[in-house]
Amino acid sequence: MEAKQLQALKQNNALLCQFIVKLSAFYEGFSDKIDTELKVLRGHLSGTPNFSLAAVSIEKLNKSLQHQEITLRKYSVDTVSTLEDAMKQLQKIVFEDNELKGLTTQELIKLNQPVGDIFSIYKLYAKAIALHRIALNKEMVRLEPYEAAETKPEQEENATAGSVKDENPHYRSILVELNHLITSYAQKKPSDRKLNDIKRRLDEGMDKDQLLKSCIVILRMIVQDAMSEASLTGKVIQSLHRSLDEVSNDVSNTIQGSQAQFEQRKAGTEQIKRHISHIEETVSDSDSLESLKEQTQLRVKKLVATLTEQQDNDEQGQEALMALLSSMQSRIDTLQQQTSAYKKKLAEQAMQSRTDPLTRLPNRQAYNEELDNAFTEFKANGTELAVAVVDIDHFKSINDRFGHAAGDKTLQVVSKFLKQSLSEKDFIARWGGEEFVMLLPGSSMTVIAKELNEIKTKLAAMPFKFKQEKVKITASFGATSFSKEDTPETVFERADEYLYKAKRNGRNLVVTDLSTDL
Ligand code: GH3
Ligand code: MG
Ligand code: MG
Repeated sequence: MEAKQLQALKQNNALLCQFIVKLSAFYEGFSDKIDTELKVLRGHLSGTPNFSLAAVSIEKLNKSLQHQEITLRKYSVDTVSTLEDAMKQLQKIVFEDNELKGLTTQELIKLNQPVGDIFSIYKLYAKAIALHRIALNKEMVRLEPYEAAETKPEQEENATAGSVKDENPHYRSILVELNHLITSYAQKKPSDRKLNDIKRRLDEGMDKDQLLKSCIVILRMIVQDAMSEASLTGKVIQSLHRSLDEVSNDVSNTIQGSQAQFEQRKAGTEQIKRHISHIEETVSDSDSLESLKEQTQLRVKKLVATLTEQQDNDEQGQEALMALLSSMQSRIDTLQQQTSAYKKKLAEQAMQSRTDPLTRLPNRQAYNEELDNAFTEFKANGTELAVAVVDIDHFKSINDRFGHAAGDKTLQVVSKFLKQSLSEKDFIARWGGEEFVMLLPGSSMTVIAKELNEIKTKLAAMPFKFKQEKVKITASFGATSFSKEDTPETVFERADEYLYKAKRNGRNLVVTDLSTDL
């Protein structure tokens, strides 16, 4: 009987250990320090579980989790205040420009609102960088006499269409930025009425006030989104804290319950021993059969009562343990569901952060990651590796003549064409604007030059039509192979140099390491 109870307890304890191991596996990857402590906890719970050490470990883990949350909050506060300083400086620089000043003010308002998690900070960063880039572009327009001279005749041709832009040089940059944001949010919320409304009006053309209002609507959406992500992260951490606390309590309850049960059982056994020795005494002391029978019956009754009581206690203990385990099971199930949803969301975010929203091509960050791997492979095995940069020719004139929406559509079509033209082993990303970058492993420059020339010719022959007008779209290419002395930076610079050679030599051209005549 005792052995059976002990066996049941052991089984239940094993079940309890599995729960905790499952729970800790779900939390893995959040922080190195916590992972190490979770490993220690798993150590205490594997093989022959040691619940006393496990309880100590859970206690430590709780502290680490709390500490982790404080570190995270401090990081958030510091980052937001750095961003705030940067935005204040920017505001001083752009004080003459009402639109940009308005946008920086909005960003500052956003920075003053509570921020809960790292992902919302990424968005604040992205926005701050975008605003700096707009300001920088403005400086470049002023400082580039060559560009200004080249674009002048086109501007004259479009004197009426370009009136708003002439009045405000940031208008186009803000439009590009707004369009990016809308494309990215339209994927998340395809049926959002406000978003569709802005998109439609953007295609039709907006004046300054409408543009600013639209920017504010989008900013609000970003803040709301960031806040909901923050509360999601907060909820998962809180829920994890709660569950670990509850598991910790349950473990100590189980230990206490087992000890109390053990004590009760010991007392019961002592009592049974006493009953039996009383029976023995009764047998030896009895002088008549009648009194022996009477005494024995009395003792046996007491013995049965003690045994029944012990059995009841054991059953109650079992029931309590089972109830405890099933409540823990349901808590862990809930947590598992929450964590799975959170993991999925994290994976989606990771994917989105590597994809360009307009063209759906990988973005610059994804390219850098891919390049790291390819460069490591090149260093280790010396396999051939080349980089090519591609820039659409006179793309600005597509925007100017047919509108921004036509420019966007062109970018999507050209991106798709370039991607389809490459083989499986090749990689292409949108570098920014109307520029793309390719990683071409395992081919000689002779082969690459031939392939790029074919792509160039096919693109130039593609039928584009805007407002009933047939338009020829061409691109310039610069491609170079890695040599032993190269770093990713030197290779990119060389490819970029070749690209500009292609531009200077009339565009619609491929320049590579083999182009000795240019
Ligand atoms: P070049 O042949 O010298 O490359 O001339 P270009 O006109 O292609 O180059 P430039 O750098 O002068 O202009 C690039 C233009 O691309 C300016 C910018 O408005 C536009 N652009 C950048 N990103 C986007 C975008 O996402 N959508 C649209 N429609 N236009 C964009
Ligand atoms: Mg360009
Ligand atoms: Mg271009």
